[in-house]
Amino acid sequence: MTAHANPLLSDWTGPFGLPPFDAIRDGDFGPAFDAAMAEARANIARIATDPAPPTFANTIEALELAEGALDRVGGVFYTLAGADSTDAREDLQRDLAPKMSAFSSEIINNRALFLRIDTLWQSRDRLDLGAEEARVLDLYHRMFVRAGAQLAGPEAERLTAVKARLAVLGTRFSQNLLAEERDWFRDLSADDLAGLPDFVVETAAAAAAERGREGHVLTLNRSLIVPFLQFSPNRALRRIAYEAWTARGANGNAADNRAIAAEILSLRQERATLLGYPSFAAYKLEPEMAKTPDAVRDLLMRVWQPARDKAEADAAVLARMMHEGGINGDLEPWDWRYYSEKRRKAEHDLDEAAIKPYFSLEAMIEASFDVAHRLFGLEFRALDVPLYHPDARAWEVTRDGRHIAVFIGDYFARASKRSGAWCTAMRTQRKLGGAQAPIVMNVCNFAKGNPSLLSYDDARTLFHEFGHALHQMLSDVTYGFISGTSVARDFVELPSQLYEHWLEVPEVLAKHARHYRTGEAMPQDLMSRLLAAGTYDQAFATVEYVSSAMVDLAFHEGPAPADPMARQAEVLGELGMPKPIRMRHATPHFSHVFSGDGYSSGYYSYMWSEVMDADAFAAFTEAGDAFDPETARKLETHILSAGGSQEAEALYTAFRGRMPGVEPLLKGRGLA
Ligand SMILES: [Zn+2]
Repeated sequence: MTAHANPLLSDWTGPFGLPPFDAIRDGDFGPAFDAAMAEARANIARIATDPAPPTFANTIEALELAEGALDRVGGVFYTLAGADSTDAREDLQRDLAPKMSAFSSEIINNRALFLRIDTLWQSRDRLDLGAEEARVLDLYHRMFVRAGAQLAGPEAERLTAVKARLAVLGTRFSQNLLAEERDWFRDLSADDLAGLPDFVVETAAAAAAERGREGHVLTLNRSLIVPFLQFSPNRALRRIAYEAWTARGANGNAADNRAIAAEILSLRQERATLLGYPSFAAYKLEPEMAKTPDAVRDLLMRVWQPARDKAEADAAVLARMMHEGGINGDLEPWDWRYYSEKRRKAEHDLDEAAIKPYFSLEAMIEASFDVAHRLFGLEFRALDVPLYHPDARAWEVTRDGRHIAVFIGDYFARASKRSGAWCTAMRTQRKLGGAQAPIVMNVCNFAKGNPSLLSYDDARTLFHEFGHALHQMLSDVTYGFISGTSVARDFVELPSQLYEHWLEVPEVLAKHARHYRTGEAMPQDLMSRLLAAGTYDQAFATVEYVSSAMVDLAFHEGPAPADPMARQAEVLGELGMPKPIRMRHATPHFSHVFSGDGYSSGYYSYMWSEVMDADAFAAFTEAGDAFDPETARKLETHILSAGGSQEAEALYTAFRGRMPGVEPLLKGRGLA
């Protein structure tokens, strides 16, 4: 074996300081994490034991830069663990979870360090800090206190143990889910393919090829199973597929997540109690815009009632269609999408298969870039640089010739990628210690095709994730701690959901939604029907979503349920869940809530942000131009470039002059 200098630890001198993916081997990560963590420990010890009295520079700014190497190694590793996992990467991720948790507990429990921060915070009014500095100091102090820095002795020790165990369980939950999604597939015979549009057949063929099989297979990937449920006339097979899909994490095998969910909930409650909160939801919601569980419930219930009524009415229509088709009995969850698709075709003469040719992936990438160019003057140039997978692509983002960011898009589903779509920054923007330009990624799970054609929903997802990417790329702050998407959880979906609105702007569709083969624009009547159908089946989507959010909230309020599945059933019963609709994410595969803390008692956030995005886009409508330069400038100044430099309410009010009400959301969902 030849010596191999660890490329994760050397300076990245290639183009734009991108990680040298072609030189990194899996075996490099373990030693790199060890070295980077040791370096961060030494830096933090130096800050904590500094004989000089604490100043903002020698404490907060020093902390901001203390974990540079760890940020770089982690930025690469967690990108790969999510987007292109291997057994070795999964093993390492399992090893790292408790180590990283112990490391952060060590910092929080560093008494000397907290005393320096606390001393600064107590004297904050006399420090003559700028607005951004004052905000960062406040957030550091809050982070330490909320993490338990004021606890001592056995309570502090117990909290550390609880957090370490939670980190292990969160990782296990997502790995189980990945295994369930990777392992399940079903061969489809020629008969099974009957009634499926070409794009579904092609996706099933690609899925078979990826698994080294002949013919066609059905998998649990959303971009295959959802269209299968929409189009397959084979009710028995739809049932098998639907049940496999919704049983993920609850199959009584080694990847069963139910006991893990119960333990997570009980440990979270203990964590909240140790910190002096009545419940985990109360603890979790305190720094968010919503602030309290009651405020969350209030919003969700205002939407629930009209959505449920409309969904019951829709269910009656779909059941009638099914009975007229000669099938007796109740409308079941595996029937909804099939009859809903038929009804959509009948009422709006809109069929998914006729729409897709106008939404090639290439055209939609171009559209998302073009909108960003018109709003913010950004330009995109494809880069030829080594990345971690042949499907991943990179662009340089500039404005007036100045480098802004590197954007990476990794769009296709594969077995090594976790499900869903997300935006992540391998490197975030900051100015402290020399300007650092961001490296931002969008990861999606679109079906690969030749060319790859998106559903309208997929195109919306692409715009959504690109909105998050803009929040990272346009960030213009000094401190990494408040950079880009480092904002309240119930505010973070505003830029992404707002960006989806531009996909619905007729001139954007006219310019970019062109037939992949002929290059012709979408016919005017098809476009009108597509836009008119915008609120189609929103009652179903709202019921799926709100029920999940209510279960999430109930899990974290009051005593932790010993049997989460029973508690889930109870909440759904109290809500009066329509029988043919199930939660969008049931407990055993609710990764928002259980793969880490991110969205725990926070799944409502999407709707909270939606209240704002509906109102924010109205600012452009009121200006009479979806690309109104003055409104775009305000959006960038007060929201997209501002990161977490102020409380979310202040940011929004600066942009819009006031806070929004819930009416534009109900109207947008056709539930007003
Ligand atoms: Zn999002």
